[in-house]
Amino acid sequence: MSGTTPDHDESLKYLNEYFDFNPVENRTEDKVFGNKAIFTNELLWSTLQKSMYDVLGGLSFVVMFQLGQKYGIALGDRAREKSTDVQQAVRFLEKYGLLAGWGKFHTTPFTLSGGRLQSRVTITVEDNFFARTSRRIEVETPQCFLLSGILSGIAQGLFGEPHTCYETKCMVIGDPCCEFKLITDSD
Ligand SMILES: [Zn+2]
Repeated sequence: MSGTTPDHDESLKYLNEYFDFNPVENRTEDKVFGNKAIFTNELLWSTLQKSMYDVLGGLSFVVMFQLGQKYGIALGDRAREKSTDVQQAVRFLEKYGLLAGWGKFHTTPFTLSGGRLQSRVTITVEDNFFARTSRRIEVETPQCFLLSGILSGIAQGLFGEPHTCYETKCMVIGDPCCEFKLITDSD
């Protein structure tokens, strides 16, 4: 390729630590998973959520949770592969979530015994993308089923056994951030 002028703009290449734009292949790439990525926005996401709710009603929450859980397991597995220990994997995932546009995650300090969580972990999410796109004033309970599933799956990927995740505060119902509790299933 030396001596030729590329017909693409090299300055477009770097997006952030986890995402690149490939100007030769004309695609956005996720460097964590090594696959193609897309950027979407609130309009697409809120339309998707509303359409699912219109068709499935409350069942859409179960679908969201399970979808998130399966993706979360893959995410937890990958974070564990890329990190020296679980603590580092959690920091990695917090930053990946931030740069992916999901929101700002904070996980309370936790200790492990025999590779298992010693106690319940709290995860807060400021500016949660998924909550900001699903504000429905008539609801009174937390609504972030996809993210609950993702966090549950991530824990399973990281620790190798199922975990329950439930949301205790939610921006959809007026809380300043979303808050999730995570606990090992067998506890
Ligand atoms: Zn929420």
